[in-house]
Amino acid sequence: MSDIHEVTVTSVHQMTPNVKQFVLESDDYTFEFDPGQHTHVHFPREESPAVDDEESSDEVVRPYTSTALPGTRKITLAIKRYPDGTASTWMHERTPGDTIEIDELGGNLYLRDLDSDAAFVSTGTGITPMIAMVKQYVEEGSGQATFFFGEKDEEHIFYRETLDQLEAQNDNLEVVYVLSEADDEWSGPEGHVQDHLEEHLDDFGDRDFYICGVPEMVVETQDYLDEQGADEERVYVEGWEGDEVSDESA
Ligand SMILES: Cc1cc2nc3c(=O)[nH]c(=O)nc-3n(C[C@H](O)[C@H](O)[C@H](O)COP(=O)(O)OP(=O)(O)OC[C@H]3O[C@@H](n4cnc5c(N)ncnc54)[C@H](O)[C@@H]3O)c2cc1C
Repeated sequence: MSDIHEVTVTSVHQMTPNVKQFVLESDDYTFEFDPGQHTHVHFPREESPAVDDEESSDEVVRPYTSTALPGTRKITLAIKRYPDGTASTWMHERTPGDTIEIDELGGNLYLRDLDSDAAFVSTGTGITPMIAMVKQYVEEGSGQATFFFGEKDEEHIFYRETLDQLEAQNDNLEVVYVLSEADDEWSGPEGHVQDHLEEHLDDFGDRDFYICGVPEMVVETQDYLDEQGADEERVYVEGWEGDEVSDESA
């Protein structure tokens, strides 16, 4: 198992009705990882506020993805609260000054080629690895990047300020928000995020794709990319969020 680090919560920010961002700082450890990778939060199960917790181990361990870039003693996590979630409810009770145990970051979602054009496609908390990767891409990459993000409505779009700033500052980045339950004020694309790729990408064959979100969206997007002629070896995915949970917790 990788080394455990104790970090202090230094800032908590409510981003949307059910997502908080946490800044976590280590006294003595500089985080080195590839943007897109995740850590694990560890805490004793007896501290869990979840009532229907049926797991048996004494420790709760859950993966969360840094939305900050590496190279400092701080990382940021954006965590969506599920009403009956063991770790997400525990994390949402953390306040500045609290300490948390996390391990070193790792995982398979990270930028493979900074010089290829790239499309980032995510829904819900699947945005977290994309935020870290797109920050790295606009700093170091040389191609065109298109960032697609699907949520239910405008209130639930998180990291919008960050993305709008990045888009305004980088001619090689386009950001597309797609809403599945938009109100009349919304003039952007509606429905499922994967149904809007073609309007913004002139070429599927010569591009890297990074996908993260509910399993159904990940599978549908992979199938669609296959039909459009994308190279399956250039499609990198992670799926982690359940449909029922997303709907319930909104
Ligand atoms: C690599 C990786 C990175 C991740 N990064 C992030 C991140 O940056 N931000 C973030 O908010 N989350 C992230 N997650 C999800 C996170 O690890 C937890 O799964 C999530 O916070 C729910 O944990 P919990 O302990 O609160 O819920 P649990 O106690 O595990 O679940 C309680 C109930 O909620 C429902 N539920 C919870 N999670 C799911 C699920 N994934 N699918 C279906 N039903 C579910 C189930 O009904 C379950 O009975 C990531 C997951 C992975 C695999």
